[in-house]
Amino acid sequence: MGSVVLSLDAELGWGFHDLPEPPTDRVESGRRGWTAMLELLEEFDIPATWAVVGHLMLESCDGVHADHPAPDGWFDRERGEWQDREDLRFGRGLVRDLLESDVDHEFASHTFSHVLFGRPETDRELAVAELERSAAIAEEWGCSFESFIYPRNDVGHRDVLAEHGVSAYRGWTPNREGVRAVFDSMVRDRSLLVEPFVDEYGLVNVPASLFLFGFEGPARSVAESIWEDPMVALARCGIDEATTSDGTFHMWLHPNNLTTERDDRRMRAILSYLDRRRSDSDLVVETMADVARRIRCSRGVDGEPTRIDAQAKASWN
Ligand SMILES: [Zn+2]
Ligand SMILES: [Zn+2]
Repeated sequence: MGSVVLSLDAELGWGFHDLPEPPTDRVESGRRGWTAMLELLEEFDIPATWAVVGHLMLESCDGVHADHPAPDGWFDRERGEWQDREDLRFGRGLVRDLLESDVDHEFASHTFSHVLFGRPETDRELAVAELERSAAIAEEWGCSFESFIYPRNDVGHRDVLAEHGVSAYRGWTPNREGVRAVFDSMVRDRSLLVEPFVDEYGLVNVPASLFLFGFEGPARSVAESIWEDPMVALARCGIDEATTSDGTFHMWLHPNNLTTERDDRRMRAILSYLDRRRSDSDLVVETMADVARRIRCSRGVDGEPTRIDAQAKASWN
């Protein structure tokens, strides 16, 4: 029997602040997508790993962050163009909604300010600062994180993660993405399952299987006009595979991928199918922390649960 994991990169404006021309539809959809995903996951009672950018949990900031060892200009956009866009820079209400959800979600980290860890200019000092700042803010909220998702899946400084108590991260997908993923799975009958493993730093790598919004633009419209949403078909294949064989089907997305109701429909179709297969088989839905614990236990390494507990919940009120 296999399992299904769903992870989300929750970032609002931070996913785009370093881009010369941030995509407006995505930037403006971060809040609606966050709420839509929380509601859908509640409707189907599906726990997910939410990797949150730490800055969103701040009450306010000076836009300078002089004590943070980021390169010059890293915080320019929040000081400039987005100075009056607190809705893109902060998200305390949304994080509270996540933590207070009836579903047993996993709170995870997506860095403090969306620094790309794999870049050569991201030195160890910056990686440490991003992790320590995220951990300190989480602690102020009465929580901690066990899983980490690299911005743009740019894996790097894994030793720093291991030293800061992280136990799992999302690794690169071994599969091709977008249209090629549809081709590989549907035509070439290639597996969408991944095998999480303990890497050389003692971290559990939970590789991605499928980015749920890797098939967009005109090709999506054409495909949907003659057929069903190909990404829904692909996700169903992965879910079906996980019900019949060992291995993990790991889907991921950003809340800001839900830019229109058409995107909400995609997620509803996938989640309702997952819910159905879970109830008519032994399939389990896991968070990344669940996977890490399972893998470590099977190797005889202790894994402590870090679910959002009742005591922490009480302290936010
Ligand atoms: Zn700031
Ligand atoms: Zn991101």
